[in-house]
Amino acid sequence: MKDEITYQPTVCPYCTSCCGVYLVVKNGRIIGQEPMKSYPINEGKLCIKGNNTYKLLSHSERLTEPLIKGRKVSWEKALKLIAEKFEGVSSEDFGILGSGKTSNEEGYVLQKFARVVMSTNNVEYCARFCHSATVAGLGPAVGGGVMQTSQMHIDQADCIFLAGVNIQENFPGISRRVHRAKNNSAKVIVLDPRITGTVKNLADIHLQLKPGTDAALINAMIKIIIDGELENKEFIKARTEGYEELKAFVSSIDLEEVQKVTSVPLDKIRASATAFAKATKGCILYDEGITQHITGSDNVKLLANLVLLTGHIGKPGTGVNPMRGQISGEGSGDMGCVNVFYPGFKRVNKETAEHFQKLWGVENLPSKPGKTFMDIINTCKTVYMVGVNPMISAPDSNNVRKSLEGLDFLVVEDIFMTETAELADVVLPAATWVEREGTHTGIDRRVYKINKVVEPPGQAKPDWWITMNIAKQMGFSDKFNYNSSKDIFEEIRRCIPQYAGISYERLDKTISGIHWPCPSEDHPGTPTMFTQKFNTPDGKGHFQPVGYKQPAELTDREYPYTLTTGRVIFHYHTGTMTRRTNSLNDELPEAFIQIHPEDARELKISNGKKAILKSRRGQLEIKTRISPDITRGVVFIPFHFSKANANVLTNPAFDPACKMPEFKVCAVSIEKAD
Ligand code: SF4
Repeated sequence: MKDEITYQPTVCPYCTSCCGVYLVVKNGRIIGQEPMKSYPINEGKLCIKGNNTYKLLSHSERLTEPLIKGRKVSWEKALKLIAEKFEGVSSEDFGILGSGKTSNEEGYVLQKFARVVMSTNNVEYCARFCHSATVAGLGPAVGGGVMQTSQMHIDQADCIFLAGVNIQENFPGISRRVHRAKNNSAKVIVLDPRITGTVKNLADIHLQLKPGTDAALINAMIKIIIDGELENKEFIKARTEGYEELKAFVSSIDLEEVQKVTSVPLDKIRASATAFAKATKGCILYDEGITQHITGSDNVKLLANLVLLTGHIGKPGTGVNPMRGQISGEGSGDMGCVNVFYPGFKRVNKETAEHFQKLWGVENLPSKPGKTFMDIINTCKTVYMVGVNPMISAPDSNNVRKSLEGLDFLVVEDIFMTETAELADVVLPAATWVEREGTHTGIDRRVYKINKVVEPPGQAKPDWWITMNIAKQMGFSDKFNYNSSKDIFEEIRRCIPQYAGISYERLDKTISGIHWPCPSEDHPGTPTMFTQKFNTPDGKGHFQPVGYKQPAELTDREYPYTLTTGRVIFHYHTGTMTRRTNSLNDELPEAFIQIHPEDARELKISNGKKAILKSRRGQLEIKTRISPDITRGVVFIPFHFSKANANVLTNPAFDPACKMPEFKVCAVSIEKAD
């Protein structure tokens, strides 16, 4: 009926909390939004990003037609050219970079395209830069790199350790649960080199460490717990292996030395260790402050040691919980957009390849690990990118630009002309989350369904449709024969046992989704993991003793400051969407460097004036924000911006276990700009 207003339920597309929102639709157009009061995740509350989700949908810069070298073309012409180019490249020289924003169905079709059509495991997504260290660290410890509790149970904890996560800015929805726990007397410990809003509003204890010294500090907490006999002996005996090795390893740690290395007073480390060990329900929430180091996987192993030592795992509101940042940060990994995993985290090898050959009815699937994210950029000749913007998100952007400009052929699929799309031979217009149907998997393994609310603009298409049609153009119609997102999900259920019991029909009946593993249709889902045993081969939790190693790049006379990077509440990841949303961009339209007043005084830089930062990889000019909330010698830049892009400076040195670049520590020089 003309002029009828309807309220269409959906979720906020920004962080992995996935808060419920109603979009207000009139005559096929979204004209506003309202928080969804009945949605159990957010209970009607939205953060500033969530309150501004709909504005980008009708933005005048939306991509609406395929482009070849900047010229508008038909889908037919674009698909034909892509197919010709892809057919002419070897599997070794071809790579795919996917996204944490696409639906599960889109991630699934993308990795299947890499493996079935291009015979390569060179398929990755943005989690390489946020939680690859989680997979490497938690895999051997407990058998899976996932959140172990439901986000809705976090308020049951009586001690919450926020390790390297500025939860108030980056996960405001979950931050509400931490506030609620604190109001119920929970103790909150925050590990962060800066005094953030999280520290000011939540921390009972702030461990303000020197960037990159996390391992020394966590090992000290472990030693203090063991020396004080505060460990959970019963849990250790029943459910773990390797305790004696851990005890022997930490026995030689010199706590005075830890104080010097980390700059954190020993009494704070002691108080934190004691509070966590004595809690009835201890919960660790951690993010990129822990993972984005050359020792990221070691840091994660140490956090796992901490929960195994204290028994704070396997109950609601406990565990060592990675906080993946994007709406499908979990889902794209589950679907197999990873160089070493087929769908369902089945490790790439001959047996797995044979298993999927049977499921997909194909032969000769690749059985050797593919290239990682940066190796795809640096060594492939033809790259297909979907919803990913490495010109902003990858370390050492000058080198990324050089590599992308040197490609034989680059296809970028997105909703806006990103900094990466500007370098592409072909740009394909994609539909957003409310312009197609599909499922996503939130931070706590919660699978939920999003319905189509409006038509995509112009010729924009769902990502799964685009990938499927490239495959069809290349002669794989029978293997990519989907009429809907539901068809793809039915295949996902057959291929991924954790999703077997989840169906569109079930999801349509439940507002807050179903947590995997959900092996059968009569299974209620699994909000809490590892209640009886771990997913390791012997079912036990494994302690992994590891020591402290220095960051890859230390300060010196030429580069005397330590740069650390991160996010702010007004922007999301590479800023592609939030920089185009006026009400968000107006709050913070440009990047800044946060610098201590004493450092600024020495450099003769005034607040709001420009400074020039240089690292061994590049330089930028940036506005200063003088603040006592950062320690002397350390500076911070949010990485969401195209101008004054922090990643021009960052170090691509990586963790050998997971190829995670060290975004959080590099050495820079600073001078006043004229
Ligand atoms: Fe969106 Fe996350 Fe904010 Fe919720 S907390 S409204 S999901 S950005």
